[in-house]
Amino acid sequence: MTISSRACGDCTLCCKVMAIEELAKPANAWCPHCKPGHGCRIYADRPAECRSFSCVWLVNELLEEYWKPAKSRLVLTTSEDGLEVRCAPGFPDAWRREPYRSEIHEWAVSGEPLDMTVVVIVGQRMTLVTPEREFDLGIVGPDERIVRELEGTRVVNASVAKASDLEP
Ligand code: SF4
Ligand code: SF4
Repeated sequence: MTISSRACGDCTLCCKVMAIEELAKPANAWCPHCKPGHGCRIYADRPAECRSFSCVWLVNELLEEYWKPAKSRLVLTTSEDGLEVRCAPGFPDAWRREPYRSEIHEWAVSGEPLDMTVVVIVGQRMTLVTPEREFDLGIVGPDERIVRELEGTRVVNASVAKASDLEP
């Protein structure tokens, strides 16, 4: 990550798209404390989850300005496995527009040899993007995990399994 001089400004999209456990706020619903387009009404007292959250656009100036979530309708975050791209409610095809689609594909290409995944999330529906194809995984619950079948570093299949079934 680079040091960024960016600021959220008029963007408040993560306050809608992300789930906030501490507030029991589900994903894809406005936080009751948010003034959309302006900011947080309880900024000084916002939960720890909110304090520690930054989307990738905010902290990484290598991402072009057009990735700003308020404009792209896409919130990028990192996960243990790689990159997650969340579409704003009402914009399920935001990630299929250019230049986003091509860049998402390029990340899948550069991520594969590093075993990094690129997952697009629309509501609860997830799509694993690989250099060769998209794996529509359907609705993936919080207690479920994506399981990839690999040939070398190439993903040849992907499915979803209960996290508890994967524990050794
Ligand atoms: S989505 Fe990113 S830029 Fe927008 S308010 Fe959240 S952290 Fe800031
Ligand atoms: S508490 Fe504030 S920062 Fe956190 S989701 Fe709600 S509006 Fe956003």
